[in-house]
Amino acid sequence: MKYVSVAIDGPSGAGKSTLARKAAAILGYLYVDTGAIYRTVALSAVRGGIDPADAQALVPTLEQLDIRLEYGEDGLQHMYLNGEDVSEAIRVHEISQHASTVSAIPAVRAFLLELQRDLARKNNVIMDGRDIGTVVLPQAQVKIFLTASPESRAHRRYLELQQRGQDTQFETVLRDIIKRDEQDTNRPIAPLRQAQDAVLLDTTRLNLEQSLQAILDIIRERV
Ligand code: C5P
Repeated sequence: MKYVSVAIDGPSGAGKSTLARKAAAILGYLYVDTGAIYRTVALSAVRGGIDPADAQALVPTLEQLDIRLEYGEDGLQHMYLNGEDVSEAIRVHEISQHASTVSAIPAVRAFLLELQRDLARKNNVIMDGRDIGTVVLPQAQVKIFLTASPESRAHRRYLELQQRGQDTQFETVLRDIIKRDEQDTNRPIAPLRQAQDAVLLDTTRLNLEQSLQAILDIIRERV
C-alpha cells in the first residue's frame, strides 16, 4: 500500500470522531468520518418521504443519490446532498437512529464501499466507523477499537447535543445509544466488532488528552 490507513472502529459516542479528527490534524492525514456518509443517506431518505427501514423503496433511489464528501479550508469533512451542505443537518438526534437503520441494508453498504476505499487509495487516512478494520480496510496498518462504558458514552453525546442547542434528556440519549449499539452489533452484514488484529482502547477513565495520546502512541508504534 502506497498510503497509510488507520482504522478506528467502536460503538457510538466512544469519542471516535473527535479523537480521529485531532490525531489526523497532528499527523497530517485525511480524516474520514464514515458515519457521516450513512447519516447523509438517512437524511436523503427522510427528506424523500421514504421510511429508512423500507429497503425496497430506498435501494432504487441510491443510483440517483448525489452524495459528495468535501474538505473545507478548515480541513473539516463536509457532506453534500444534492449540492447542499448538510453537515449540520445530519447531526440531528433522530438521524442517528435512521443512519443505523439504513446502514443495515446490504445494498446501501455495498453502494458506499468503493467511495470509502477510494479515499484510502489516494490519501493517508484515519477512517472511523463500525466496520473499517473488518470490511472496508482489512489491510489497514493500524486498527484501533475504541470503546467506553455506555454511561460515559451517553454522557459525552448528551453534552455534544446540548452544545449544538439540541434539547434532549440524558436518559433518552443513553437508551438510544444502547439500542443503536445493539442494532449495529447484531446486524448480519458488517456488524460492529473488534477486528482480530485491532488494539482495544477503553477511554472510560481517560480524558480527551490522555485518549489522544494513547491513540498517537498506538499509531506511531506501528507506522
Ligand atoms: O458514527 P456515527 O454515529 O455517526 O454513525 C451513525 C450510524 O451509521 C451508526 O450507528 C452505524 O449504524 C452506521 N455506520 C456503519 N458503518 C460505519 C459507520 C457508521 O454502519 N462504518
